[in-house]
Amino acid sequence: MHISHTPLVIGNWKMNPKSVKLAIRLFQDIQKSATRVRGVDIGIAPPAIYLSELARLAKSKRLKLLAQDVFWEDIGARTGEMSAPMLKSTGVAQVIIGHSERRALGETDEQVNHKVLATLKAGLGVVVCVGEKKRDPQGNYLTHVEKQVRAALAGVSKAKLGNVVIAYEPIWAIGTGDTATSHDAHEMKLFIQKVLSDIFGRAVLSKMRILYGGSVNAKNAEELLREGNVDGFLVGGASLRAHEFATIIKIAGAY
Ligand code: PEP
Repeated sequence: MHISHTPLVIGNWKMNPKSVKLAIRLFQDIQKSATRVRGVDIGIAPPAIYLSELARLAKSKRLKLLAQDVFWEDIGARTGEMSAPMLKSTGVAQVIIGHSERRALGETDEQVNHKVLATLKAGLGVVVCVGEKKRDPQGNYLTHVEKQVRAALAGVSKAKLGNVVIAYEPIWAIGTGDTATSHDAHEMKLFIQKVLSDIFGRAVLSKMRILYGGSVNAKNAEELLREGNVDGFLVGGASLRAHEFATIIKIAGAY
C-alpha cells in the first residue's frame, strides 16, 4: 500500500546543548540552511527550557517547534511538569510522546495514552514513539509494537488522526550507530499501517505519517527513504550537527 506524504524530519535534541547560547547558535545554523529546502516539513525538539527563546528566533513557520514530553493535566499541583496548553502558548506545534528514554524512566502505555489525548485536545500534534528492545525470530517484537500503537491511540477520534505521527524507533538502534535496515524499516511501516487500518479503517493511512528513528545520518537517510519507504525521520545525535541535519533535510526534500 504505497501512499506518498510530504516527508517530515524532526531533530530531537534530547538534553542538549549545554546552554541557551549554544542552543540559539545551533537553531540559527539549522534555520539558515534548512528552511530554504522545499518539499519537506521540518521540526526541532529542543529541551523545554529553550522553547520560548527559540520560538522568538523562528523566522518562518517552516521550522516547527516540538516539545519532548508533556503532562496530561492542564494546570495544578504537578511539580516539574508542563501541560499541553502551556507548551502551545510558547509556540510549540507538536509533542514527542512515549520516547523510549521516557519509557525507560517508567512511563507506561497508559500514561502515553493520557498524554496523547491531552495534547490533541489542546490542538497540538503528537509524534508517538514506539519500538522494540530487541528482535526475536518468533516475531514477538511485532506484538509489542502493536500493543504500544493500540494503547497510545485508545480513544483518539478519527477526526484527530491528521495530527498524529507515529515514529518507529527500535531501541536497539537509538544512539548505537546500529541502524535498522531499510527492509526492517519498511516491514515495520507496513505492519504499523496494518494495525492502524484495523483500528481506524484504511482511509486514515493517507493522513498519517510513519517515521523511522534510530541512528539516522546523512549516509543512510537516502536508502531508508527509497527502500524503507518511511515518511521521514526522528533524528537524535545527527540533529546536533547543523550541517549533517541540513543534509538529511535536503535528502528528504529531494526524495
Ligand atoms: C532519538 O532519540 O529519537 C534517536 C533516534 O536518536 P539517534 O538518532 O541518536 O539514534
